[in-house]
Amino acid sequence: MNYFGYDIDEKLLALSDETEQNLREIYKKHESIAMLWSARVLSAFQHNRVATNDFVEVTGYGYTDDGREKLEKIYAEIFGAEDALVRPQIMSGTHAINLCFTGMLKHGDTFISISGEPYDSLRTIVGISGDSRNSLIKNGIKYEQIDLVDNDFDYAQIESRIKRGGVKLVEIQRSRGYSHRDSLCIAKIEKVCKLIKGIDSSVIIMVDNCYGDMVEDREPTHVGADVIVGSLMKNLGGGEARTGGYIVGRHDLIEDIAERFSAPGLGKDIGANMNQLLSFYKGLYNAPSVVCSAMKTMIYSSYILERLGYDVDPKYADLRTDIIQTITLKDEPSLVAFCKGIQFGSPVESYLTPVPAPMPGYPDDEVMAGGSFISGSTIELSADGPVVPPYTAYMQGGLTYEYGKLGILIGINEILKNKK
Ligand SMILES: *Cc1c(COP(=O)(O)O)cnc(C)c1O
Repeated sequence: MNYFGYDIDEKLLALSDETEQNLREIYKKHESIAMLWSARVLSAFQHNRVATNDFVEVTGYGYTDDGREKLEKIYAEIFGAEDALVRPQIMSGTHAINLCFTGMLKHGDTFISISGEPYDSLRTIVGISGDSRNSLIKNGIKYEQIDLVDNDFDYAQIESRIKRGGVKLVEIQRSRGYSHRDSLCIAKIEKVCKLIKGIDSSVIIMVDNCYGDMVEDREPTHVGADVIVGSLMKNLGGGEARTGGYIVGRHDLIEDIAERFSAPGLGKDIGANMNQLLSFYKGLYNAPSVVCSAMKTMIYSSYILERLGYDVDPKYADLRTDIIQTITLKDEPSLVAFCKGIQFGSPVESYLTPVPAPMPGYPDDEVMAGGSFISGSTIELSADGPVVPPYTAYMQGGLTYEYGKLGILIGINEILKNKK
């Protein structure tokens, strides 16, 4: 059937209408979260007297940059924290997390991941995979891990380990990443922060906040985390930031991290802005609405794909704390067809056909779809998955609900065509 010029299966369009009818209340919940974050962002812009002068390029050493300093104050304010580091020189989420570890941990310190095995790229940093000569373990830092039980923290084991003493830092990964587990919602993070701080308030709690930013009405820093970290190619870049990452938290810790970011003695006082400040401000300004669009796009796809018989996680009515949706497509042709459809529905490189291929750093062949404006941006609609049973696609993003919905319809239409 002709849907604004796109040929989409008639039954799929009927299902789409039903889906939107039934999701109204859930959409409203996310719209009200976006309202709350918009008010926080707007008032922080106003308190900090943002002016057009704050967007100008500062070159060379970048010793004085009002725009950069104000932006960092704004990040701290909206996250209920003391300080922040928000820079184009932070190249990715992984880089930001590495800065935190190396800034806060010293030879002989112990840190624990309490959300099980960390995200793929962090394992090499820690030194539990890969053979880097520069991992934390190679630098004399001790690593321990406490796994999740039934998709929640192992509170009893965490309690006894913290009581034994000697723990410098605890790391929590909020989002599931590429693992088959639930993401950890703010209520759970709050409970575990209270537990840890109640035993030993000096233990540093750091949260890998990638994909979680602005999804719920509070952030980990509002509930006891000392430092949180994210990538600007994800939520808070709002699709505008061309690169960058952020770290928000306690002032003394941000100082330590900033000295690792630049050099001891220099800290936050240096760093040309590469003319990126306008996009950072605008990205943050748009982020509440962009994150809401991505959430609605994922909930919409979850509902439709579940109705079509696929295993989806989370389900449409589940509480969400990140922008990720997984869909188990059961066979290789369906996984590839879905990624193809998402690519065909993209604004950029829509004419390319994704095919499974080996990827550096991944054990299996991967198929990836992402026709995004910013290379590798995952706040823009994108999907990928390892080409092994059960053929699960990891999908996220959607800069606007309308484009997200079109992308999903074209993607699902491709699976249906493939089945015929
Ligand atoms: C994306 C992500 C990272 C790493 O961020 P990059 O920008 O890809 O380096 C780390 N942890 C989680 C949970 C992520 O989703």
